[in-house]
Amino acid sequence: MNFADRMSRLGTESAFEVLARARALERQGKEIIHLEIGEPDFDTPTHIRDAGKRALDDGFTHYGPAAGLPELREAIAKDVAATRNIAVTPDEIVVTPGAKPIMYFVIHALVNPGDEVIYPNPGFPIYESVINFVGGVGVPIPLREESGFGFDLDLLEKKASAKTRLIVINSPQNPTGGVLEVDQLGRIADVARRYRIPVLTDEIYKSFLYDGEFASITRFPGLEDLLIILDGFSKAYAMTGWRLGYGVMPTALAEHVTRLMVNSNSCTAAFTQLAGIAALQGDQTPVATMVAEFKRRRDLVVAGLNQLPGVSCRLPRGAFYAFPNVKALKRPSSEVAEALLQEAGVATLAGTAFGEHGEGYLRLSYANSEANLRKALDRMRPVLARLAGASLTGS
Ligand code: PLP
Repeated sequence: MNFADRMSRLGTESAFEVLARARALERQGKEIIHLEIGEPDFDTPTHIRDAGKRALDDGFTHYGPAAGLPELREAIAKDVAATRNIAVTPDEIVVTPGAKPIMYFVIHALVNPGDEVIYPNPGFPIYESVINFVGGVGVPIPLREESGFGFDLDLLEKKASAKTRLIVINSPQNPTGGVLEVDQLGRIADVARRYRIPVLTDEIYKSFLYDGEFASITRFPGLEDLLIILDGFSKAYAMTGWRLGYGVMPTALAEHVTRLMVNSNSCTAAFTQLAGIAALQGDQTPVATMVAEFKRRRDLVVAGLNQLPGVSCRLPRGAFYAFPNVKALKRPSSEVAEALLQEAGVATLAGTAFGEHGEGYLRLSYANSEANLRKALDRMRPVLARLAGASLTGS
């Protein structure tokens, strides 16, 4: 079989590959602690599960509108308006199976071959993958540890031009846990306004913020017809497997994205959408409980990582990832991740799974039990000590 040329440009998400390899090791009898995949270890709250079950019994088992059920789009419009303090109407919303299709569809709808797209690096790997897939020219903006993993704004100013078709930002950020400050968002907004560049703002981790208030680029005026908000239910409501997300965008773009839905998924499963309404309108205590628990685990993991040989780790302000610096080990981070998987039975991701500027870092998801996190740190110590020792003797 011959494959289309474009398939050679499509990347992947290493988390799923490492998960598959870790599962293969488990089948061979090895015990693995999973810190590679980015999903809450909490169950979906009961009232949301009940709404999903009720919807199945009530016959929500058929095709629905491609852009999503009007009731859910209404509920999302209210929620987005309240959380960002902006006016939103349901016709600006497209509901998708997970939030990931929003990046896929929006990049397809906006970017022609040869168009430039600015995106964070290290960053969620699917941005770069889909930019390359459509023949766009990726313009990575490095996120540097020294600046709290914020955007290099001077570089952004230099790289943005009339050729830029889209800017992608993500805060709180995967994989670094960094958060874009209001003044940083303001400078990104200035650049977008100057060249009339659409901004895809990935806000899927907005509930996972451990100090301060969530700030969205939506707070800046003059961007109303340029912004696309990506958000969803996977992380905040522990609903990764339900596949429910959405985008908020100008109506003209929403029509294109809806057509992409018609051509791919037809629609998002109706009963999951009813569960989504229950999530937005129901008790928010489970979200707060989960975030408080993640904050405790973040503190535990970061303190533990900073005690390990060859490792230093900044305190991430959001999401549920630690992004420790392992440059002192003087070897590719993929090698460090491999040694941890094989020798310690701890599955992590190399920083390079998130782009070239992730070299020298690992990503650990601390969405795991405290007991497992402690065990992982214990098991990592001798492996890292060996690597650190080897780096001193130059072997
Ligand atoms: N955006 C970022 C930054 C993510 O980390 C993820 C999931 O890992 C997504 C979007 C996609 O979320 P979903 O599972 O709803 O497709």
